[in-house]
Amino acid sequence: MKKLQMVDLKSQYEHIKEEINAGIQEVLDTTTYINGPKVHEFQKSLEQYLGVKHVIPCANGTDALQIAMMGLGLKPGDEVITADFTFAATVEVVALLGLTPVLVDVEEDTMNISINAIKKAITAKTKAIVPVHLFGRAANMDAIMDLAKEHNLFVIEDNAQAIGANYTSANGTKTKVGTIGHVGATSFFPSKNLGCYGDGGAIFTNDDALAHTLRGIVNHGMYERYHHDVVGVNSRLDSIQAVVLNAKLPKLDTYGQARRKAAKAYNDAFSVNENIITPAFDFEGDDHVFHQYVMRITNGKRDALLAHLQEKGIPCAIYYPIPLHVQKAYADVRYNDADFPITNKLCAEVIALPMHTELEKDQIDFITTTILNFV
Ligand SMILES: *Cc1c(COP(=O)(O)O)cnc(C)c1O
Repeated sequence: MKKLQMVDLKSQYEHIKEEINAGIQEVLDTTTYINGPKVHEFQKSLEQYLGVKHVIPCANGTDALQIAMMGLGLKPGDEVITADFTFAATVEVVALLGLTPVLVDVEEDTMNISINAIKKAITAKTKAIVPVHLFGRAANMDAIMDLAKEHNLFVIEDNAQAIGANYTSANGTKTKVGTIGHVGATSFFPSKNLGCYGDGGAIFTNDDALAHTLRGIVNHGMYERYHHDVVGVNSRLDSIQAVVLNAKLPKLDTYGQARRKAAKAYNDAFSVNENIITPAFDFEGDDHVFHQYVMRITNGKRDALLAHLQEKGIPCAIYYPIPLHVQKAYADVRYNDADFPITNKLCAEVIALPMHTELEKDQIDFITTTILNFV
């Protein structure tokens, strides 16, 4: 059996090595390190893949979120509603911009932001909702867009974990997540579903005026060389990362299928055990691209299982062990712990298993057998 890893980027690289090596050599030979033709090519391919008018590449996913919020003109004092159960980057940028983060609970079955909790949190100061398509599963965008329309709010999708997933509306239309709200942000961190070999990110929008604003912000607020119209940042995707992304983008759907296949094998194996709650999903559908395979251990043995798996050489992780509303940086007297029952429960029960595009049957069998023997 091949060595188990949370993410096996080396085996994935072996399949695309020639293309990547040749592309990187070309960048070295042409010295087009930044904003070269490779970056432009990637931008165009991603626009086409997502069916979105504008992709603005940038340096990482955290920047993408920050620049999206800057582009929308959010101001200190504006309230931004986001999920309590997510990676800290989502709330970090809200706080950095002097906006007021409003954390809300999530839904138990999808682990995504709770629509009822959003409704309760909306005030006269609310300006935006930031749904996170957590672990690769599309959030309930129909309900979120309806609420946004009703209350005149912006929707900024944190799509760092779900690039390639489709959201199916009640009317049957499929739309790539990240392109449904006013603006979407993603990350190309190596372990993400579309990962480069360093840092990278992008912002998406169908709004021409917003796209123009964003293109200036990523480049020091310049719309004309050395004319700085707004305060911007320096956030660029480099050409070597674009080479990697150009090689991987055409494979993203195949990668998604490989992830769903592994998730189904896990789900099938664990269906016999009543102490495990697996992520329900439609294998034929594509609203979940399994950035992470996160299941729940409901008999109180989660931490013991974690230690046991580590002993057996099976990598696993807890995403996320501590709710954001109790983190030192984000705790606030406004938050009442009793308002976050689901996040609190999930933090105590979740465990993430190895999930990547190269998982083999004998690896999954070993992982599932070891877990079933223990739980
Ligand atoms: C990874 C991630 C980010 C940040 O992306 P970076 O490229 O690491 O800055 C933001 N939000 C979520 C939900 C993420 O998983």
